[in-house]
Amino acid sequence: MKIFNIVGARPQFIKAAVISRAMEKLGLGSGQGHVSEVLVHTGQHYQDNMSRIFFEELELPAPRYDLGIHHRHHGAMTGRMMEALEDLMLCERPEAVIVYGDTNSTLAGALSASKLGIPVAHVEAGMRSFKRSMPEEINRVITDHISTFLFCPTKTALENLEREGIAGDGRANIVSMTGDVMLDAFLYYKDRAVATSRIIEKIPAIKDGKRYILATVHRAENTDDPARLSAIIESLNALAEELPVVWPLHPRTKTALRKAGMQADTKVILLDPLGYLDMIALECLASLVVTDSGGVQREACFARVPCVILREETEWPELIEAGCALLSGVDRERILSTAFHLLYQEPAGPDWHVLGDGRAGYRIVDTLGSCLFG
Ligand code: UDP
Repeated sequence: MKIFNIVGARPQFIKAAVISRAMEKLGLGSGQGHVSEVLVHTGQHYQDNMSRIFFEELELPAPRYDLGIHHRHHGAMTGRMMEALEDLMLCERPEAVIVYGDTNSTLAGALSASKLGIPVAHVEAGMRSFKRSMPEEINRVITDHISTFLFCPTKTALENLEREGIAGDGRANIVSMTGDVMLDAFLYYKDRAVATSRIIEKIPAIKDGKRYILATVHRAENTDDPARLSAIIESLNALAEELPVVWPLHPRTKTALRKAGMQADTKVILLDPLGYLDMIALECLASLVVTDSGGVQREACFARVPCVILREETEWPELIEAGCALLSGVDRERILSTAFHLLYQEPAGPDWHVLGDGRAGYRIVDTLGSCLFG
């Protein structure tokens, strides 16, 4: 018997590593028992520093299948993935398919499996921005509506599913609140990251305990709109006058900056995308995180570092309610005032424990094991 674990993008490698390890620990997927895990990489992220390094650092098994599908528009990418995944599923006949988050790989895996009558397990179910212009929102909503197992990181996610009629009494699907698998990963790798990463020593402006701001930007709504991108660059340039700003550039952002003919000031320290351990090490010692990433805003909270979210909304409102992060949109003045507020005013005792206890992976695998295999 097999379970497909479908990944394709950077954050999915991290989430899958948590599930893979929990499967191994709970005797599911290791191959010794009657269930084995088949890791399928769609190829959505394929560069070494967006893919290979994560398999190495997270000790993920090499993918059994790598479909090599990338660099296409949403429809073509999702369609090609579905075609290839359907062939694989017909050949391997998995008992269930696990998908993560909200990318095209998530949607393609969920659609292919559900059309073949294979149960879909969605890790990070119920997240909503309520903004249908985001490709991620379309992927999440559809995936949730066709999943059999819906693993919600937060109470808000669970309530979103209830409101959409996906969760609730009399439903055949299994919906549970598990906590955030990214916290499991953070807790597992943090000490190793801080002990082994040399990234801070390599950057003279921040080494020897100097304060700095860590930034990431990659959402299409920010990179593909020159006005928004320009406001973000101007804000990061202004922040770099205050403290060094370290900015690992996502490939999409690098391309967008080049196309728009924009560049950051030399005081902004631009890096290539980092491996997970370097990124965690940088997050842990930053004075402030400025990001539009779903994963990085949560990791800032895990690392107990205040965070400016470069968006008008977040799928993780708990972070705002708990005082761990603030939304700034992409207005230059608002970004700066939010950043200075978080940097220099004593935060009113944020509750850094809002996203679970770091045992989400075990809950997910336990539920899958008992429902699928008794
Ligand atoms: N990340 C990384 N290197 C980087 C930037 C981010 O390892 O240069 C990690 C980050 O620590 C987090 C994940 O990638 O675990 C977040 O992924 P991303 O921001 O691409 O996607 P999102 O979370 O918004 O879906």
